[in-house]
Amino acid sequence: MDLHSAYPFWMIKEGILGSFPKLHDCTKAEVVVVGAGITGALIAHRLCEAGIDVVVLEKRHVAHGSTSASTAMLQYEIDIPLFDLSQKIGKKKAVRAYRICSDAIDEIGRISKPFGDQADFQKLPSLYYASYAHHDRDIIQPEFKARKSAGFEVSLLSESDIRKEYGFSAASAIRSAQGGHVNPYKLCHHLLADAQKKGARIYDSIEITRIEQNGDEVQLWSGEGLEIKARHVIVACGYESQRYLPVPVTLFNASYAIVSTPLDEKHVWKDNALVWETKTPYLYMRTTADRRIIVGGRDERTADPARRDSLLPFKKLQLENDFRRLFPGIPFDTDFAWAGVFGETEDGLPYIGSYDQDRIHYAMNYGGNGITFSVAAAHILTDAVRGKKNADAALFSFDRLKKVRKPGGW
Ligand SMILES: Cc1cc2nc3c(=O)[nH]c(=O)nc-3n(C[C@H](O)[C@H](O)[C@H](O)COP(=O)(O)OP(=O)(O)OC[C@H]3O[C@@H](n4cnc5c(N)ncnc54)[C@H](O)[C@@H]3O)c2cc1C
Repeated sequence: MDLHSAYPFWMIKEGILGSFPKLHDCTKAEVVVVGAGITGALIAHRLCEAGIDVVVLEKRHVAHGSTSASTAMLQYEIDIPLFDLSQKIGKKKAVRAYRICSDAIDEIGRISKPFGDQADFQKLPSLYYASYAHHDRDIIQPEFKARKSAGFEVSLLSESDIRKEYGFSAASAIRSAQGGHVNPYKLCHHLLADAQKKGARIYDSIEITRIEQNGDEVQLWSGEGLEIKARHVIVACGYESQRYLPVPVTLFNASYAIVSTPLDEKHVWKDNALVWETKTPYLYMRTTADRRIIVGGRDERTADPARRDSLLPFKKLQLENDFRRLFPGIPFDTDFAWAGVFGETEDGLPYIGSYDQDRIHYAMNYGGNGITFSVAAAHILTDAVRGKKNADAALFSFDRLKKVRKPGGW
């Protein structure tokens, strides 16, 4: 699958941060993680910390999949608002899903701390504004009530509060204290380098083309005919994980992002808050460690990479106009623009766990919370391979497929 257009920002900015060898001989491990994006890296890192023998296999180069295209806002807010998700899956489960993502932000902060540059992690508030006046009544008010009653630290901003504090115009907004952002490319490299120091064997340029469970053993084959044996396999192939499943669970879109040239500190809005809106697809923005602004959104319902990339010049203009309409006083010159595949599930939650073979596990962390869900996957799947019960496993398991699937599927 062609995951993104040329020139995603992080890859260009950071270059090749670390290299890993190619696997030349058949091997075995307690756990094989297939895919070395942010999900595979978080999982491999946690498995190593638990003292488990891990091999990581990556068909491209480390972090060159969707991770390099990610804008990496870290939010506990799932793409489906809490009040809406509560109606869909029940309040208790919805609040738990939000809480898991909230805890994941703090965990990413903790994990990043020992790395010299902390992978540019920063804890920040987020601002969720009403795209239209009627969204105040239809979304902002019920969402504020739902989050407040679930114990999240939120405040409600009126039109004049937003204008005074952030300098743009919207009917209302929810400000959340909990949020953050990170450089996902750096974080992925740091985690894998650290996992390697702790004993993980990491190989790139090896594509796994077949996975089979036979009794208590899982066999994997590479395109070049190497056989790898493991007690457990974790498929962390991002949006390409779908190929190993007999049923479609992913809805594919194209998403777009632009990043500005570095700006003067005085030009950035209050608190460097994450900013996003209520309409779908939503416009969102964040800042970077080198004082740039990333603006993303304008998603398009297409899985065709040629169409996705042909729309990029037009989407770039649209995103620039969106930004200038909101912040006319901030000079914005686009430095890079890129497009990426963006996968979603019907209920906004990831699929984490085994499908029909108990030693082949999946970490399909989709939607705008992909990275926080990857932290959850690292917990759930480390427990799974250790034979330990995890209280959150059911929330993200494949068992719910039958419940959320609409008649006829997608
Ligand atoms: C434009 C855009 C903006 C986004 N913004 C955000 C955001 O703000 N916040 C957020 O949390 N998430 C965001 N996401 C989603 C987030 O980027 C993804 O959830 C995340 O990158 C997925 O990471 P991953 O490791 O699962 O997948 P990937 O990074 O794609 O890694 C999977 C790896 O598996 C490898 N692989 C695949 N098949 C095989 C095989 N057969 N054998 C060996 N290796 C294989 C691939 O080469 C790849 O490197 C965004 C995504 C896009 C595209």
